[in-house]
Amino acid sequence: MLATQELQIKDKLKEVFGYNQFRGNQEAIINNIINGNNTFVIMPTGAGKSLCYQLPALVLPGTAIVISPLIALMKNQVDQLNAFGVNAQFLNSTLTKAEMNKVKKETISGEVKLLYVAPESLTKEETLDFLQKAKISFVAIDEAHCISEWGHDFRPEYRKIRGIIDSIGDLPIIALTATATPKVQLDIQKNLQMDDASVFKSSFNRTNLYYEVRPKHNTKKQLIQYIKKHKGKSGIIYCLSRKKVEEIAELLRVNDVKALPYHAGLEPGIRMANQDAFLNEDADVIVATIAFGMGIDKPDVRFVIHYDTPKSIEGYYQETGRGGRDGLEGNCLMFYSYDDIVKLEKFSKDKPVTERDNSKLLLQEMAAYADSAVCRRKQLLHYFGEIFEKDCGFCDNCVHPKERFEAGEEVLLALKAAVQTEQRFGMDHLVAVLTGMKDQYVESYSHDQLEVYGKGNEQDAQFWNSVIRQILLSGFLEKDIENIGVLKVTQKGYDFIQGPHPIKLAKDHNFEEEVQKEEEK
Ligand code: ADP
Ligand code: ZN
Repeated sequence: MLATQELQIKDKLKEVFGYNQFRGNQEAIINNIINGNNTFVIMPTGAGKSLCYQLPALVLPGTAIVISPLIALMKNQVDQLNAFGVNAQFLNSTLTKAEMNKVKKETISGEVKLLYVAPESLTKEETLDFLQKAKISFVAIDEAHCISEWGHDFRPEYRKIRGIIDSIGDLPIIALTATATPKVQLDIQKNLQMDDASVFKSSFNRTNLYYEVRPKHNTKKQLIQYIKKHKGKSGIIYCLSRKKVEEIAELLRVNDVKALPYHAGLEPGIRMANQDAFLNEDADVIVATIAFGMGIDKPDVRFVIHYDTPKSIEGYYQETGRGGRDGLEGNCLMFYSYDDIVKLEKFSKDKPVTERDNSKLLLQEMAAYADSAVCRRKQLLHYFGEIFEKDCGFCDNCVHPKERFEAGEEVLLALKAAVQTEQRFGMDHLVAVLTGMKDQYVESYSHDQLEVYGKGNEQDAQFWNSVIRQILLSGFLEKDIENIGVLKVTQKGYDFIQGPHPIKLAKDHNFEEEVQKEEEK
């Protein structure tokens, strides 16, 4: 890297953004894109992704295109950049014809440094014609997980982006996301044809967040107690429906909590006022649907509560990520009930098959997370492709551990089941083989002839599910990223088959039983 370039980006950091130093990988990422290389950034929410494309846009000649899915988010960023004295503009459906023409003119003349574009606008022929006339420095694709059907926020227009970029020119791309499981990551790189990209992945561990799951039982009472314990502190409560948001906000108000609702059904003026009240500390608690929080940057949110069970671990992680951004206290409480899972499954009933299957899969992962007695952080990080060796000591399952049982034999059986079925199947089939079920797959593959078949029939499917999930978490098995759902044995798994040793596993929670006991007290 040229010394002058290094100086230049440091200067801009201070002069335009007012920061003294880069955070994490920011500097390496910025240099990579300035040098014209494809760049893939995976960073948790709040880590500072925007700067990774905003700063290079100022240094490079021409205009950077920023593709962003949300109009509100776009406007926030553009306003902020304008306040820093940067010429940033956006192109989306909210502009009048005259405004649109002005933006285009200023872009072609080279005044605009960052042009934010919604994917819908990008696909329009007239936008394309215009972009071909402009000098474009690079393309940033924010929220890149929207490309993948396996993510939690699939947007079909995102799949057209690559073709459009090609028709504009040979441009470097920087794709950014806060929510990439290994599968989604592969999908993004494939779809954007960015196999050559330098990948910058930061750890997703948020060490200051405490994770806790409670059964959804006497929830209102629990909620009020919890908030009284955190009296006067800032918090977000997520609910799945607008109606629930209103109801809970009201419940809190009558209990002397300064709470306000936030959802897309509120009149925009009220919604903005409520958001501002929360940001300015006129309200302590905001009760919201997941519409709230994208691009919100309040550093001292002390608790994030999921009143309803969330739809996916990715969404959940994103939302809890809004707690404790200043690195201080952050409590994440989720209320869980299997009824919620069933309800959510019904919501996607009328969706196309792949979408429905996918949301079902995400929900199963959510249920498994809630039920599991394994360290929450270990589970969450594993979901994002990180192996966290030790238990964290800072989650409900670590603080109140469940009794563990010796499971060497079970682990061996499960691994053998994967090997004997040639590592071409997923959890359900392995469980069917172990418990000695006779379904269509077992029969057509003659898996009832295998040595392990039915060897685990003293335990039920739920037990084996839990065993398999735990050995996945400990790295004896891994998910095959090419074939969704398929489980493969790792080297660690083979070593175990060669030389089994004692190993302890935890039984899943049985929330129904816990609730019953609670009631009998
Ligand atoms: P993300 O998009 O990853 O969620 P943002 O880009 O919104 O994160 O950044 C989160 C916060 O961190 C913002 O308030 C931003 O101003 C701040 N920030 C980013 N980079 C730096 C830095 N190098 N030094 C100090 N603050 C930073
Ligand atoms: Zn833990």
